[in-house]
Amino acid sequence: MGEPNFVKTICGYCGTGCGLVLEVQDNKIIKIRGDKEAPVNKGQTCVKGAFAYEYVHAKDRLTSPLIKKAGKLVETTWEEAYQFISNRLQDIKTSWGPNAISMFASARSTNESNFVTQKFMRTVIGSNNIDGCNRT
Ligand code: SF4
Repeated sequence: MGEPNFVKTICGYCGTGCGLVLEVQDNKIIKIRGDKEAPVNKGQTCVKGAFAYEYVHAKDRLTSPLIKKAGKLVETTWEEAYQFISNRLQDIKTSWGPNAISMFASARSTNESNFVTQKFMRTVIGSNNIDGCNRT
């Protein structure tokens, strides 16, 4: 077993943005504690931030994108998945207009990701149809 590394990060479970310190050994998270230097939480976390990390190493976790082909989900590359999404969004926008597209963002993303998401919807797609579970 290698020596543990301590990695600072931000909890992505809710919009509070608590600072966390991950204890990582052999490329696996073995413990999480609150970051005492983080101004938001000063070392505190809720139960999700401290303990809900085993999914990271779950054997059945999706590690590549899937596209439905002939009714079945098939593993594909990120390049093909992004091209597929881009083509479908362009088709819908051309056929039905930008307001036919909506985006549901996630409270489990960072503020920066949500910012980019709304920018993408408003400036690239041309639609204000964006919402997220982070306001519930
Ligand atoms: S530790 Fe809890 S309160 Fe803090 S950001 Fe994560 S989910 Fe939110």
